[in-house]
Amino acid sequence: MPKLRLGTRLFLSHLVVMLVGLGSFIVIAKLSFPRQVTLHLTTLEKRGYIILTSSRTYLLKGFENVWDRSAVWSIISGVSAAGGLSYWFSQRIMKPLNQMKDITQEFAAGHLEERMLSSDIPELNQLSHSFNYMATSLEGVEIRRRELISDLTHELRTPLTVVRGYLEELADGTLAPSTELYFKLVGETRRLERLTYDLQELSRAEAGHLLIKPQAVNLYPILNSLVEKFSEQLLDEGPTLTLEYPPDTPLVLADADRTEQILINLLGNAVRYTEDGIIKLKVWRELQEVWIAVIDTGIGIASGDLPHIFERFWRADKSRSSHFGGTGIGLAIVKRLIELQEGRIEVESNLGKGSIFRFCLPVV
Ligand code: ADP
Repeated sequence: MPKLRLGTRLFLSHLVVMLVGLGSFIVIAKLSFPRQVTLHLTTLEKRGYIILTSSRTYLLKGFENVWDRSAVWSIISGVSAAGGLSYWFSQRIMKPLNQMKDITQEFAAGHLEERMLSSDIPELNQLSHSFNYMATSLEGVEIRRRELISDLTHELRTPLTVVRGYLEELADGTLAPSTELYFKLVGETRRLERLTYDLQELSRAEAGHLLIKPQAVNLYPILNSLVEKFSEQLLDEGPTLTLEYPPDTPLVLADADRTEQILINLLGNAVRYTEDGIIKLKVWRELQEVWIAVIDTGIGIASGDLPHIFERFWRADKSRSSHFGGTGIGLAIVKRLIELQEGRIEVESNLGKGSIFRFCLPVV
C-alpha cells in the first residue's frame, strides 16, 4: 500500500469522519422515516381526521420523494463544505510542518543561523521553541569550536616554534646545552601535553567512554594530599591554601580518581586565577549529600558570564585566560564527571572578589 502524505491523511480522515456521520444519519433516517410518517398518520386518524388508504400511500410516497431530494442536496453541500474545510485545516497544519522540514534541512546543510517561525498551534509552537533552543546552543558550540581551533592552532604553534628553534640551534651548535634550556623545553612540551590531555578527556567524557567506578570513598586523604601538592606550587607572595574538613564527614559514593580529577581542575583554576589571598577547600554534610567547595579570593567571574562557564571551549575573556594558559575545557570536564557520579555543581562569583565552586556527592 502506497504511503500517504500527512496532508492527504488529514484530509481523508476528515472526509471519512464526515461521510460516516452523514451515511449513518441517512441510513437511520431512511429506515425510520416511513414508520414515523405512518405513525403520525395513524395519530391523525385517531384524532378524527379521515385519511383514505390511497391518499395515505400517496402521502407516504410524496414525503419519501421530498426527503430523498433534500438528502441528495444535503450530501452534495455537506461533502463540499466539509471537503473544503478539511482541505483548509490540513493545509494549516501542513504549512508550518513543511516549513519546519525545510528549515531543518537547511540547518543540517550548515546554515546554523536558520530559526523556525512561531505557530498558532501550541504543539507546533513548542516544537519550534525546542528546535530554536537546540539551534542556538549548537550555533554557540560551533562558533566556540571554530574559535577554539584558531586558538589551539595559535597555542600549539607558539611552543612548537620555540621547541623547534632551540633544537635547531642545539643541533647546529649555535646554542650550548644547559639545564636551564632543557627546563624551558620541558615547560613548553608540558603545555602541549596539557592541551592534548584536556581535549582527550573532554571528548571521552562527552562520548560517555569514561569509566566511573563508584565506591565508598573517604575524601580526607584525597583532599589532604591535594592541598599538600598544590601548596608546593604556590609562591610565597601568592595565596595560601587551607582545608576545612569536619572529622565526622561520612564516606561518599564516588569514583576516587575522578573526584581527584575534579578537584585538580577546580583547584588548578583557583590557583591560576588568584593572585593573593586565600584558597579554601571546605567540606560539609547536608542531609544525604557531602558538599565540597573550592573558595578563592581571585579575579572572579562577571555575573553575565556565569551561565556559560561550564560550556566547553568557553573562556571569560579570551585574552585574559589565554594569558593564564586556559583552554576553556576544564570546567566542562568537571561538570560531566560530577554528573556521571550523580552529583551536581554550583557556582557563585563576584568580579574582582573571588569565586566559590561547590559540588556534592551522595553519602554512602
Ligand atoms: P580554563 O582552562 O580556561 O581555565 P575552564 O573550563 O576551567 O577553562 O574555565 C573556563 C573559564 O572560567 C576560564 O577561562 C575562566 O575565565 C573562568 N574561571 C574558571 N575558574 C575560575 C576561577 N576560580 N576564578 C575566575 N575565573 C574562573
